Amino acid sequence: MDRLIRGIGMNDEIRIFSVDTTDTVNEAVSRHGAYPTAAAALGRSMTAGLMMGTMLKNEEKVTVTIQGGGPIGAIVVDSNAKGNVRGYLGNPKVHFPLNDIGKLDVRRAVGTDGFLSVAKDIGLKEHFTGSTEIVSGEIGEDFSYYFYASEQIPSIVALGVLVNPDNTIKASGGFIIQVLPGASDETIEYLDARAKEMTPVSKLIEQGLSPEDIINEAIGEENWRSLDEMPVHFECNCSKDRFLNAIASLDPSEIITMIQEDGGAEADCHFCRNKVWIEKEELQELIAH
Ligand SMILES: [Zn+2]
Repeated sequence: MDRLIRGIGMNDEIRIFSVDTTDTVNEAVSRHGAYPTAAAALGRSMTAGLMMGTMLKNEEKVTVTIQGGGPIGAIVVDSNAKGNVRGYLGNPKVHFPLNDIGKLDVRRAVGTDGFLSVAKDIGLKEHFTGSTEIVSGEIGEDFSYYFYASEQIPSIVALGVLVNPDNTIKASGGFIIQVLPGASDETIEYLDARAKEMTPVSKLIEQGLSPEDIINEAIGEENWRSLDEMPVHFECNCSKDRFLNAIASLDPSEIITMIQEDGGAEADCHFCRNKVWIEKEELQELIAH
């Protein structure tokens, strides 16, 4: 079971999120049949999106869309305050040779010309939306830039996904360290210095380090403490009713075509790839009122 921890540190001047997403990302990647480069892009996005979800409260939700103009198309990730995440990408069948530092070439798959957009559903009629340019295509830096430019929260975002030769996930995880308002210059300088010499998070997860161990490595065990933890997992909330609602919003002539030509309709969830067959009688019901 994957686990996320939340903590605070540096005289309570920073907050910390650290998560193991190995099982979560493996489930998404296997549902989408993603090739390694695409799998790493989806996994990094889901890992960051998951941590963003746990920055919310109660029933709040967040959707992150990363559209960098590259061959994988848009990546869409949904998550919530309960540690549930789901995601998909336009084209999961993308793979490239390793880049010049021997890593999956996520930037080439994602592209560097586009936007990272965030939509938060924070209950009632309130929505928050923010969008920043893709600055890297490696995703971690793009989230970091988003937090800084759109939410004015300087953040270190480190994400790593390792893919096995059979396209399953060997290890996946990451952390976010956010500098709270009023943090001292010393804290910011310390974090900058640590960030420069930090072992890449993909190396740390490859060594099997826990979310706590990774933060210890990143900023020093004496500089933070854990506040709480929660299990996290892949979860999709699609259902036959949701598909029926979506079909009900179509033009009635389209529904009649489904009934006459296909004798029903097959609904396919983008997020989890589950397929649901909608019976002819259920379609007739939709146009009867
Ligand atoms: Zn679904």
